[in-house]
Amino acid sequence: MMNPDSGCDIEDIPLVFDEDGLRRFEKFLVITNQQACDLHCPWCTGKATNYPFGDDQLEELVCCLEHTRRAGIRFNMGIISGNGEPSFLGYEDLRKIRDTLKTQHFEEYLFQTGGNLFWDTKKFELFWDWTMELTRGAFDPKRDMTMRGYKRDYTKTETFRKARLGLNITLIEENLPDLPNEIDRYLNAFGDRLVRLTLKVLNINTRTGKPDNPYSQWVFDHGVPPEKSETVAELVSSRYSLKQEYDPVLDRIVWDACDVPLIMEMKKRRYGRLHMAFSQGKLQDYLLRQFSFPSNDRLGSFVLR
Ligand code: SF4
Repeated sequence: MMNPDSGCDIEDIPLVFDEDGLRRFEKFLVITNQQACDLHCPWCTGKATNYPFGDDQLEELVCCLEHTRRAGIRFNMGIISGNGEPSFLGYEDLRKIRDTLKTQHFEEYLFQTGGNLFWDTKKFELFWDWTMELTRGAFDPKRDMTMRGYKRDYTKTETFRKARLGLNITLIEENLPDLPNEIDRYLNAFGDRLVRLTLKVLNINTRTGKPDNPYSQWVFDHGVPPEKSETVAELVSSRYSLKQEYDPVLDRIVWDACDVPLIMEMKKRRYGRLHMAFSQGKLQDYLLRQFSFPSNDRLGSFVLR
């Protein structure tokens, strides 16, 4: 393990290569820092982890991506995410991020939104062919709205009706007995547009792992703990057939839920260790350790175009 203060050496991450010998990471995330969200999720990872806000420095994105390319790194997914709601970013900035990520040939492109993107047709159209990654506390819109403190039901919008969906189901203790039925509800309602369903063990605090603020305390009190992930897996296996047994690199199990991949992140390993985040002009991991690259990698200056 490296010293968390000394920066993040790329060798800290498990080695996964594809057939071309290129280093594989699972996700490349652009984290926007809008300091705002129209939702109030009690489990908010950004707040539970107390991630710092700051200038997005989007002008550094091209250069950072070039560093990863020269280092022989490839990613499965390119994702627009946020320490807050990413669709609050201006149209032009979103378009520039989209165009920049599109030069990288990720296997899949995702936009994480709490739902606000569906109310802005112009911004949605920028990402009409991306997977919309949404996290829900409940299938029932009223319950989800109450739980997460929002008033407009985005599932009623035209944009939502035509979106490809990657839905995350939060694992909350009180919902566990009904989990197989809840999965069925999502499949019945959105099955033809579902790219995947993911069962999420919530993060208490991604950096400290401790319940040291009201959000992380809520997760500690209400979330299904990682130690219980095997029990949840057994429950899911009672309804759906296994597609992939536990993968220790990706730390997940996959079931076949009516042809939709149903994924459970088991949280036996450090969360996000195969993810790289561009945030505030730097490449870092979820512990806010900065990635370093070879010093002989001489790059000119790049700008977003
Ligand atoms: S939608 Fe995301 S950023 Fe907004 S409160 Fe919920 S978890 Fe936090």
